[in-house]
Amino acid sequence: MKPAMDRILDYTPLETGRDATALDLSLQHWQARLDDDHVLWLIIDQKDATANTVCEPVIEELAALLGEIERRQPKAVVVRSGKPDSFMVGADIEAFRELTEVDQVLEMLERAHDVVNRLAGLDCPTVAMLHGHCLGGGLELALACDYRLARSDTSLGFPEVQLGLHPGLGGTARLPQLIRPDQALQMMLTGKPMPAGRARALGLVDALVEERHVAAAVAAAAAGRLTSRASGSAAAAMRLAPARRFVAGRARKETGKRVSEEHYPAPFRLLDLWEAHGHGREAMLEHEPRSFAELLTGDTARNLIRVYFLREGLRAQGKREAAEINHVHVIGAGTMGGDIAAWCAHQGLLATLEDREAKLIAPAMKRAAALFEHKYSDARERRAAADRLIPDPAGAGRARADLIIEAVPEKLELKQRIFTELEAVAREDAILASNTSGILLEDIGSALDRPERLAGVHFFNPVARMQLVEVVGHDRLDETVRQRLCAFATAIDRLPVRVSSAPGFLVNRILTPYLLEALLLVDEGVAAERVDAAAEAFGMPIGPVELADQIGLDIALDVADGLRDKLDTPMPDIPDWLRRKVDDGDLGVKTGKGLYQYKDGKADKSSVDEAPDPEHIDRLVLPMVNTAVECLGAGVVDDPDALDGALIFGTGFAPFRGGPLHYARQRGADEVRQRLRELAAAHGDRFRPSEAWEQVFSGS
Ligand code: NAD
Repeated sequence: MKPAMDRILDYTPLETGRDATALDLSLQHWQARLDDDHVLWLIIDQKDATANTVCEPVIEELAALLGEIERRQPKAVVVRSGKPDSFMVGADIEAFRELTEVDQVLEMLERAHDVVNRLAGLDCPTVAMLHGHCLGGGLELALACDYRLARSDTSLGFPEVQLGLHPGLGGTARLPQLIRPDQALQMMLTGKPMPAGRARALGLVDALVEERHVAAAVAAAAAGRLTSRASGSAAAAMRLAPARRFVAGRARKETGKRVSEEHYPAPFRLLDLWEAHGHGREAMLEHEPRSFAELLTGDTARNLIRVYFLREGLRAQGKREAAEINHVHVIGAGTMGGDIAAWCAHQGLLATLEDREAKLIAPAMKRAAALFEHKYSDARERRAAADRLIPDPAGAGRARADLIIEAVPEKLELKQRIFTELEAVAREDAILASNTSGILLEDIGSALDRPERLAGVHFFNPVARMQLVEVVGHDRLDETVRQRLCAFATAIDRLPVRVSSAPGFLVNRILTPYLLEALLLVDEGVAAERVDAAAEAFGMPIGPVELADQIGLDIALDVADGLRDKLDTPMPDIPDWLRRKVDDGDLGVKTGKGLYQYKDGKADKSSVDEAPDPEHIDRLVLPMVNTAVECLGAGVVDDPDALDGALIFGTGFAPFRGGPLHYARQRGADEVRQRLRELAAAHGDRFRPSEAWEQVFSGS
């Protein structure tokens, strides 16, 4: 059998020490090679994984390697990855899920800190040679080395804040000592990765190195010929107590504009930690673990970690079958069709875009140009994306496309006519799809010879921002077609959720009672701003009144009327003034006036002085929860996690709550049901708990 090291070299040309001898240490995730200059190369290549993570087995083996280093006393140690695309992508998030007690986390961290501190304390020079993603725990390992060399394709970052955490393996201690503390904090507070060039400018990376020069650069570092960039006297002054108070105070204020401390505590705990202990590395190292452990075991991080896995779960829906879709033809170049075609072109597919006349396609082409301008800094890439989007008023793409998406106005006869035409000209193996918001697929396909290849692909507006796509099935749909559409959604970087062809499908059915309740509150005389503030206090990214304006009052009304016609469940009444507004053409953001007035697309809102009313919050949120229960009971989706994920990625439902069903579970299903009964007694039957509560929450 070939030695493990040769296997790495088979698939990647990464430099791992010239004329080096592999040491047989019987490790699973690391290899060690000693080169002729007596430099020890430690190559991390986590077994059975496409990317390296900082997990317990990896850390344990590093501990064993450190023993070997202490025994052999090499001239220098180099840490690098054996994976072709990345150094390390961060912590093993799966393992986080099992840690529920602070003491458990502290115990795990103590072991890991010991190992990383031993690496940092080695007598010989240590070099981290980076490429690709170097994130979270991976960056913390790199920070424990004396030098960081990076290939130009490296991106470095601390994304922990997105999971409701801050770095926990010494990152909060080492980064603000290495570079200017305000810049270090910024990096940890935003979670945004930075390219190698910028990291070099900040002093986080000591040198940029091309692959062919790695051995020489390592030799230079090992010989002490590389001068590390000190962060300077301004940085040192910033670590003094009065400056720390000032810097942390300013950062707290800025962060407070983006997120609330109650909902997202992690950035605030990071600032507290640094303000109290940021004078020195040792003090930070001592206090970081407890702060991290308290965050990890708190509700926010647990729910955000849940959201991470909800996203993975939806993505996995698109991995069962190959999409095999290279050319998408879109019919209807309006708000949705135009943006769907542009997004497909941006994602590398050929997209032909049809409307009744060329001039009706022009606005969509203009919006697409703006999208490409925003997405690509490289002019050639921008041009290539633009070349993939082809206006097609004659509909030539109909006969060639792998997938045809219809996005004409929401009229059954029009859609039926288009699909009947398509059946005659589309390729035998082409998939036909409608972007309908609510017309049942069996109705659209009723006149087709082969309805088994027709499905719904319901994108949300704006397409470039909303990650969810409902893949709508029906009884006669071919399962492979459904799977290929899920794969298509994943291939264009959207998240598919499989839903059945029920009125409003999933997201609109759950969202509508929330929007209508908000309008009823306004109808009762509560200021629109106060209604929005109540929802925002719960954690919604935007209030329901403003959201209704963004969706368009005409569309919201259409969906609500459609649901009322087709469902037996009681719905809130629609105030007359809303219909009058729509008749008068005050449709929301798109007309500059709806429930609010808009200036440059921004709602003109007055400030709200009163605290949010808990009754308002329950009246807004619990109908969503109740409808979610009803949808699960009725089989609109077959998986509660898919439902929670769909609401988060399709509507922005407060991510740190983990989804509507999870929220009910955490608050107590019985308590929520009882609260709904009370609201029904006070405000009407629309709050009556769904009959599916028992079934959905049995055993939880
Ligand atoms: P839109 O009115 O903005 O665009 C419809 C386009 O279809 C227009 O450009 C129109 O010229 C074109 N069209 C009409 N008849 C045609 C024909 N025979 N052949 C080719 N083109 C034709 O509508 P929209 O908002 O983009 O909605 C399209 C579909 O997407 C609807 O089914 C709607 O329910 C659904 N939808 C809309 C939204 C939204 O927020 N707007 C969200 C999700 C789904």
